[in-house]
Amino acid sequence: MLLDVAALTKTFHGQEGFPPRRTSLRALDGVSFQVGHGEALGIVGESGCGKSTAARATLRLVEPDGGSVNYDGQDVLAAGPKALRTLRRHMQMVFQDPASALDPRQRVGDALAEPLRVHRIAKGADLVRRVKAVLDEVGLPAAAAERYPHEFSGGQRQRIGIARALVLEPGLVIADEPVSALDVSVQAQILKLLARLKADRRLAFVFVSHDLGVVRYFCERTAVMYLGRIIESGPTSTLFDTPKHPYTVLLRSASPVPDPAAEVARSIPEGEPPSPMNPPPGCHFHPRCPLASDVCRAEVPPLRASDAGRVLACHNVE
Ligand code: SF4
Repeated sequence: MLLDVAALTKTFHGQEGFPPRRTSLRALDGVSFQVGHGEALGIVGESGCGKSTAARATLRLVEPDGGSVNYDGQDVLAAGPKALRTLRRHMQMVFQDPASALDPRQRVGDALAEPLRVHRIAKGADLVRRVKAVLDEVGLPAAAAERYPHEFSGGQRQRIGIARALVLEPGLVIADEPVSALDVSVQAQILKLLARLKADRRLAFVFVSHDLGVVRYFCERTAVMYLGRIIESGPTSTLFDTPKHPYTVLLRSASPVPDPAAEVARSIPEGEPPSPMNPPPGCHFHPRCPLASDVCRAEVPPLRASDAGRVLACHNVE
């Protein structure tokens, strides 16, 4: 196993209102997942479910409160600053908005050379060769190195963001909604590029998305999150063809892909999930769930193994 994330927790504290009162938001409540070499794990769920926090906490861009993250046998959460820098060379991030990761005053070539310099991997002619090679790999001409980020389209900028993640030759890429800001036709091109890179480099991915169609195309396995917890996970085709958890059924029926679970989902009231600031006790999904019973309102359902390699957290679904 390349990446093993176990029981990750994170609570954000803040203040709101007048007079101000303390608030806390439990973004991650015991989140666990694993990713093998060359495998893509999708993390899906509605906005605010904690999927982006889970991705960022894996890299310690958000510092988790508890749990463990193990990358290729190394304890990420115990790593000191130097060890963490080395680990981050192997675990790279691709963001929804590549502009946020690119300095507008820095030429693309410098942006790609910077990580190679910082990690003392290459210099001189070797550095130039690596920058050109990675631009070619993501489908950009060598001349792109001389230009600034604003001179490129959104899709091209995302190619630059991917090139910057790849230049250090990582084993794992954490991609947070990498195509959701792009037009549909451009989305398809970027997804094809990512799929080719995944196969050519045997890259592993944690792929965060609200778009089930995208996850279905790209990910071998998928985990569904609801208010800080994973409630169902398993092989992507199993999960989407025969969803079991009532929330997965709802999510699946709301997706534009053809939906065999639509009949079941019709009995589930639509609407917003409850506030993550004040989640319901027991199973967080119980106010929206047609199968809810007394035990659901009192006890958190544990994740347990179900059929066809899936795990499921529900008191009332086998
Ligand atoms: Fe519904 Fe209960 Fe299952 Fe939660 S545990 S999804 S409330 S049946």
